[in-house]
This record gives sequence, C-alpha cells and structure tokens, in this order.
Amino acid sequence: MTQVYDRVALIGLGLIASSMFWAIKRGGLAGEVTGYARSAETRDKAREIGLCDRVCDTAIDAVKDADLIVLCVPVGAMGAVAEEIAPYLKPGATVSDVGSVKQSVIDAVGPHLPDDVHFVPAHPLAGTEHSGPTSGFAELFDNRWCLLVPVEGSDPEAVAKLRALWEGIGANVEEMDAEHHDLVLAVTSHTPHLIAYTMVGVADDLRRVTDSEVIKYSAAGFRDFTRIAASDPTMWRDVFLTNKDATLEILGRFTEELFALQRAIRTGDGDLLHAYFTRTRAIRRGILQAGQDVDSPDFGRGKAKK
Ligand code: NAP
Repeated sequence: MTQVYDRVALIGLGLIASSMFWAIKRGGLAGEVTGYARSAETRDKAREIGLCDRVCDTAIDAVKDADLIVLCVPVGAMGAVAEEIAPYLKPGATVSDVGSVKQSVIDAVGPHLPDDVHFVPAHPLAGTEHSGPTSGFAELFDNRWCLLVPVEGSDPEAVAKLRALWEGIGANVEEMDAEHHDLVLAVTSHTPHLIAYTMVGVADDLRRVTDSEVIKYSAAGFRDFTRIAASDPTMWRDVFLTNKDATLEILGRFTEELFALQRAIRTGDGDLLHAYFTRTRAIRRGILQAGQDVDSPDFGRGKAKK
C-alpha cells in the first residue's frame, strides 16, 4: 500500500485512535503518526505499548507540521480541542474527526479553524464496548463503513485524500450530509444504545429478580444488551446531548411501535406479532448478506481486546 500522508496527528488515544494507528501502520499509510491524550496515564500507556510513533505531552506539539489531524475525543470535547490547536495548524493541512454525531461537531469545530486549513468531518461505523489506548486493533474498520461528511466548500482533493486513507485502513467509504448522517445514526446506533441502557437498567431495578439470577440466567438477548450498555458513559452522554432532535424523533416512533406490540400482546393478536417479527427477521438477514455482521453468538467481536 502507498503512503497517503507524511504526518498524521491523532488527538485522543482511545479505541478509535488506537485502532486507526494500528491500521495505518499495517497499511504503511503515513510517514509518522503523532499522538496526544489529555491524561499522563494514557500517554504513558501509549508509550509503553508503542501506540504512535511519537506521543506528545501537548496537543499543540502533536499537531505541529501534521498534514492530517484527526480529533478522536468525545463529541462534547471537540470544540475546545479545535480551539486549542487552531493557531498551530500547518497551512494546507486537513482537520478531520471521528465523532459519532456530525452536525454538532461541524458547528463546534468549524468556526475555530483558519481559512487555509481544510475541514473534512468523518465517522467510521465500527466500535466495541471497550475504550482506552489498549482497546484498539488494526482490523476494527475492515469492511466497515466510514462516512465522510464534507462541509460546504470542502476541497475535493482533501476529501479524496482522506477517502484514500480510510480505504487503506480497510473501510468502505461513502459521503453523506450531516443532517442525514445524524438521522441514519439515530436509527442504527444511537436509539438502540438508549434502549439497551434502559433494558439493563430495568433488570437492575427489578428487585423480584436478583442480580445473580440476571447474570446466571442471562439469555442471549439480554447478554447482547449488557454488552452494548457497557459502552463508554462519556461518549454516549455526549451522543445524546448532541444528537437530540434525531434521537427524540426516533424514540417517539419507537414508543408508538412498542405500544402497538404491547396492545397486541394484551389482546392476544398473534398474527400481528408474527407478521412483525417476520419483517424484522428479514432486516437481520439483510445485514448478514451485506457482510456487516457475522452470524455468531459474539457478533464477530471476539477480536476486541478485553
Ligand atoms: P475512548 O476510548 O474513551 O477515548 C477517548 C480519548 O479522548 C481518550 O484518549 C481521552 O483521554 C480523550 N479525551 C476525553 N475527554 C477529553 C477532553 N475533554 N479533552 C481532551 N481529550 C479528551 O473513546 P473512543 O471510543 O475512541 O471514541 C472517540 C470518538 O470516536 C468519540 O467522538 C466517539 O463518538 C467516536 N466513535 C466511537 C465509536 C465507539 O464505538 N467507541 C465508534 C465510532 C466513533 P484520556 O484517556 O486521557 O482520558
């Protein structure tokens, strides 16, 4: 594979940044990768495990002379980080991010960036419930989607280069506008996470079933919910605070459907339940056929480091 950028800076060194680093190294996609995380503990851990060619003690040092800067911090922290690094960006450099919500990141980051820097927001649709510098692995993005969300006036060459990087990392790349991205993700990721958090919360509250029973007898459905509900609290708090409208819209629809199913159960409408579950089963088959998941009990995430 050929090198895409001379120097890449990763700001934030958690699951996504560390997976990007290992994939960039695997593909020989950058000359040098610098990294920065806010805590000394994370920076020390990164140095210990060889995460990044150079770990810097300030974000400013990490971004100096970088051709691509990728913000890999929680969505709510993007604006402050952009403000801090903005005066030190190299003219002609590209700033991107990996945030799970796009419009709010564009609003928070865009105004801080100088005119001679390109801004190409992105979102890789891959993750696990693990976080931190040791949780990443090179294969995380293989055959997953990465959505590029260019802002108005984005330089086509800068977009093409970022596309080449993500393709080199192993992802399939598509472009989408921010509003549509946030709605699609509210359906496919954000609301399902909220439902999982709720279901695990319900089991925890239900004192008639003891905690040990929940753990001992947890059937596959509940186990999958607990995996999702173990996701990083800071990241997910920020997702709901910043993708408010789309999540509330989908939650409204979800509640209506839930009431319809609740009513079908109460009235014994087996036909409705059967027809509903037949329709949803076809969606799962579609996901498998599209290669977006595998039909195994751990949902193909066995590679994730514990
Ligand atoms: P993570 O493993 O928790 O890592 C977050 C990193 O950001 C850490 O290095 C942390 O530094 C740093 N950080 C946290 N708060 C900060 C702040 N206020 N200022 C500066 N740095 C800060 O998170 P992640 O899963 O890689 O997620 C990073 C981004 O990717 C998020 O925007 C998320 O929405 C997006 N994303 C996540 C997934 C997923 O499934 N996890 C998937 C796609 C996209 P310390 O370690 O020093 O605290």
